[in-house]
Amino acid sequence: MRKQYLHLSAYLCDTCAGPVIAGSLAVRENEISKETEIREVGAICLSCGHRQSTPTAPVRVRHLPPLEWSPTETIKASHLTTAFLEALNRADLH
Ligand SMILES: [Zn+2]
Repeated sequence: MRKQYLHLSAYLCDTCAGPVIAGSLAVRENEISKETEIREVGAICLSCGHRQSTPTAPVRVRHLPPLEWSPTETIKASHLTTAFLEALNRADLH
């Protein structure tokens, strides 16, 4: 089954030595296939906000385990919740 994964990595900020968190998204067609459609989604230092997209010392990069990431489902779920709340509000008025 086709799934999207979010990869996070952490490395040192050049400006303040704080933690920079960088994210990328990749798609896996099934459990054993290689990841495709890899794209960077951004990087930012949590301490100073510096957007450092590449680590100065690549050997010091720490990678977090990939997370399953399906924003379309999340968006659909929140729309459902909104519709449900609107229905409740209407029910209250009567
Ligand atoms: Zn910083």
